[in-house]
Amino acid sequence: MGQKQSTRSMLKPGDHIFTNRAGDLYYHHGIYVGDDLVIHLMAAGIKKKNSKCGSCTKCGYNGRGNGVVKTCLDCFLDGKNLYIFEYGIPCKSPDEVIKIATEFLQGERDFGTYNFVSNNCEDFASYCKTGQRLCSQRESFIRVVTRLI
Ligand SMILES: [Zn+2]
Repeated sequence: MGQKQSTRSMLKPGDHIFTNRAGDLYYHHGIYVGDDLVIHLMAAGIKKKNSKCGSCTKCGYNGRGNGVVKTCLDCFLDGKNLYIFEYGIPCKSPDEVIKIATEFLQGERDFGTYNFVSNNCEDFASYCKTGQRLCSQRESFIRVVTRLI
């Protein structure tokens, strides 16, 4: 899996993006849907310890996980780095990726309960993107990781 660096201007709707959390201990993944918004799967009940009372003034997100959520890019990143995956396997068209993510968001599709190992945010994003869960096939799916600055 290669790694390169680019600017945020290359970010496109339908991209699978991710960010580091808790000092690189794990990563959080989502689908960028344009207009600075991201659809991602959150573990239920998690609230950021440093989040202020109330909600984000930009997207209304209150920091609480509730399955599939849509937040602004700032809430998604939480001040951390932004990366995108370039897949080495065929992906769905951007329109289709966004449609699938939106259907999960609106409850028309059910991704199931968040599970850190077997049903997580990375599986959600890769499923929207390719129709397959990333799971153990990660190395063969991903061609390049790009860090956006
Ligand atoms: Zn926000």
